[in-house]
Amino acid sequence: MTATYDAVVIGAGVIGTSIALGLARKGLKPLCVDMGAEAGHGSTSGSSSIIRPFYSTVDGASIAYEAHFYWKDWAGFLGAEDERGHTRYVNTGNLVVKCDRNDHMRKLLAMLDRIGCPYEEWSCERLKERFPTIVFDSFSPARRFEDDGFGEPNGRQISGAVFIPTGGYVTDPALAAHNMQRAAEANGAVFRFRSKVAEILTGNGRVSGVALAGGERIAAPVVVNASGPHSYKVNGLAAGVLDGMTIKTRALREEVCHVPAPEGIDYARSGMHFSDPDTSIYSRPDYGNDMLLGSEGPECDGHIWVDPDDFDREFSDRWQLQVMRLAQRFPTLGIPSRTKGVVEMYDVSTDWIPIYDKSDLPGFYMAVGTSGNQFKNSPIVGQMMAELIAACEAGHDHDAEPIQFPLRHTGLTANLGFYSRKREVNEESSFSVLG
Ligand SMILES: Cc1cc2nc3c(=O)[nH]c(=O)nc-3n(C[C@H](O)[C@H](O)[C@H](O)COP(=O)(O)OP(=O)(O)OC[C@H]3O[C@@H](n4cnc5c(N)ncnc54)[C@H](O)[C@@H]3O)c2cc1C
Repeated sequence: MTATYDAVVIGAGVIGTSIALGLARKGLKPLCVDMGAEAGHGSTSGSSSIIRPFYSTVDGASIAYEAHFYWKDWAGFLGAEDERGHTRYVNTGNLVVKCDRNDHMRKLLAMLDRIGCPYEEWSCERLKERFPTIVFDSFSPARRFEDDGFGEPNGRQISGAVFIPTGGYVTDPALAAHNMQRAAEANGAVFRFRSKVAEILTGNGRVSGVALAGGERIAAPVVVNASGPHSYKVNGLAAGVLDGMTIKTRALREEVCHVPAPEGIDYARSGMHFSDPDTSIYSRPDYGNDMLLGSEGPECDGHIWVDPDDFDREFSDRWQLQVMRLAQRFPTLGIPSRTKGVVEMYDVSTDWIPIYDKSDLPGFYMAVGTSGNQFKNSPIVGQMMAELIAACEAGHDHDAEPIQFPLRHTGLTANLGFYSRKREVNEESSFSVLG
């Protein structure tokens, strides 16, 4: 007999588990299916899970600022226990370097003013008090090892930094997904693992369910693609869906490095999310006295687009390159001979802004193209998608009249039309992981 659910969510990463929770809270009975063994074991598990409110667009910044309050009261948001415990939000704040590359934060400060997000401007002296071995030289533009002038200052200096108190990082991103799974189950959602969706079924001009690899069929009037870096493959299974999108998605390989913190810095006390567009590196504390660092995607590095089912999970020379770029700012950072960290994928959209939308196939929805920057927003995405799905299934024309989602902590509003699959490429985007 074919099992029947109110909705099938494909993918149990932070996005899919949150959508399952959002739908279950609306009184529906969703099934969340994942081909992996556990919730959050896809690209979510490799996330740097940094929470920060600064984005290049007002819409992007508004929802990211709101997200801080969800993580601050994670247990309250979940309203359910997890036998593994809850993941932790370490509210260190964000420190963003002021440099030529970000016009010394002028545009971003105007953005923070506009959304009402507090911040402090820090002088270089104040930075030195916190990070005694920091260097103020400017090194931009970022270069590759083989380029002339790699690692050499350009004669200019950074002009300080901006401290934003409403940010930090989440200690265990996979556990965040598991926490949302448990909360969704407490509200009636069902989860299935080691089950790959191989077909999107249709009938009477709309979605009618999915077929799993092996042939089992599951009936549902609503199917949601939350398959992360596989999103373009899953969209390709659904009749006419890719043709109805101006924004496309694809999988990008990324390396994140774990290294001991620089000598001469009390990182256990001073460590925080540190964004340095001048060296194109972000960093944050990791377990013990370690530091986690990744790339902010300088142009010279190019992009390594991959097949999500077949890509190289070994570290490359990017690992050393990224660590050496961080060492430009913190010269007491050692360059370990053993590589440690994560090789994962972003699901990148054409303009590095996600797609949270319906599709041209009635009943088929998508929350994809999270572009390396949507972990923070995941608890809100589930609620936005549940709102969008309920409205569209009730006959609302979201393409013509985009749904407005109230952000209750900040009093701002998320215009879901911003995330449309049919939007024009958003030229305000950074076209990078910064969103
Ligand atoms: C290295 C890295 C660093 C990042 N750092 C940050 C950060 O600091 N801050 C931030 O906000 N964001 C960050 N992100 C982005 C954020 O982590 C992602 O946007 C988010 O985790 C994506 O979640 P997801 O649920 O969409 O995808 P995933 O976690 O990949 O989940 C998708 C799931 O779908 C399943 N699936 C795929 N195809 C099928 C199928 N056919 N059938 C069944 N199941 C299927 C997969 O098994 C997988 O579990 C980072 C991402 C990466 C990779």
